Amino acid sequence: MAANVDWSAVTREATDLLREYLRLDTSNPPGNEERAVRFLAQILTDEGIPFDTVTSAPGRANLRASLGPPDGGVCLLNHTDVVPAEPDYWSVAPFAGELREGVVWGRGALDMKGMAVMELMVLLLLQRQGVRLRRGVRFLAAADEEAGSGYGVGWLAQHRPDWLEADLVINEGAFGLAPGAGQQPVFQVAPTEKIPLWVRLSVRGRPGHGSVPHDDNCADHLVAALQRLTAWRQKLRLTPIMEAHALAMVGAGFLRDSDPGAILRAAEGSPALRARLGNTVALTTIATGVKVNVIPAEAHATLDCRLLPDVRPEEFLRELRQVIADDRVGVDVLNAFEGAASPLEGEFLQAVRAVVSDLVEGARVVPELTTGFTDSRIYRVRGVSAYGFVPCLVKAEELAGIHGHNERISVENLRLGMQVLYEVVRRLCAA
Ligand SMILES: [Zn+2]
Repeated sequence: MAANVDWSAVTREATDLLREYLRLDTSNPPGNEERAVRFLAQILTDEGIPFDTVTSAPGRANLRASLGPPDGGVCLLNHTDVVPAEPDYWSVAPFAGELREGVVWGRGALDMKGMAVMELMVLLLLQRQGVRLRRGVRFLAAADEEAGSGYGVGWLAQHRPDWLEADLVINEGAFGLAPGAGQQPVFQVAPTEKIPLWVRLSVRGRPGHGSVPHDDNCADHLVAALQRLTAWRQKLRLTPIMEAHALAMVGAGFLRDSDPGAILRAAEGSPALRARLGNTVALTTIATGVKVNVIPAEAHATLDCRLLPDVRPEEFLRELRQVIADDRVGVDVLNAFEGAASPLEGEFLQAVRAVVSDLVEGARVVPELTTGFTDSRIYRVRGVSAYGFVPCLVKAEELAGIHGHNERISVENLRLGMQVLYEVVRRLCAA
């Protein structure tokens, strides 16, 4: 049995580490994740924890640390890059690591250097406490998540698949929610995510003089196709995970009614809920034309489609072409992501339930579907269970900081996240 952890001291240490980490600008592009890897490597060296680093391109580095038996293991996954910040809109400098009234501010505080520090501290504590492990614990800090992972987990899958060896992955993808009046604290766990399908539409037509409009103007064809697409109502349905989500959210007081009809009605007024109940199509770019009096020869648009995890992209594309209903509009797929889901029940969920009910009065564990995509998808398609699980209780206004302005995490949440994560990992891995 390990000695008791002094969580106040650990929290002070983690707060300092996070502030330092946030000062390393790893905005992607260009990334410069080598800065993060140097920072983490120094800490691991000081603690005597074995690790390895690999460079996928100049300035782009990845790091993997390991404790316990070599096969499989639980991987604490994080990405070292952040999205760029617009400093003019922030009330603090985004790369200063400021601590104000118990809150650490900075780009990456939630997405996801804060979680990375919690994961790192779990590793350090296991080592310092001399916890005997029957199952290995890995810490993987990967580059380039924010730009599609081509220099991070995607690159590792191709060039260093041994780095991805694990039988369970804990990653970003779902935050816990701070309770309001009449609500219980909610810890969300995401076993799967929407599948991105990025599509480019292209139309060619007959060029001409703007003074003599004709009926083969590519811009007209594209606009007509886009009108049909934007009027296309996606069918909403409760997948098993969202059914479980709704039920648990009613129990926690976040939703009033788990009846499918009520949920579907609630989705009418909520883009966030709608995105978890159906496929979505966002028109994101339109490009055509060179001059006001010239009928162009080419027109293009891109669509960011996100599919429910059980939808086959080919099937969706067939429907999309039917809605466009115009052979002149070419449809090209820009990415080739696959989806897969980890089990909704199992050892991880059991461990999370046991730990949060021990640590947080009245807490509920709620299954969630991640609408964005994370590095977890790369593990899931390889058959490794991966869960989005950031065990902090954040408020809606804090969530707005992710990819937005004034990103921040409270010191209290850092402490809670470390405590929950440490106990979950101990339950899964300690002898
Ligand atoms: Zn992220």
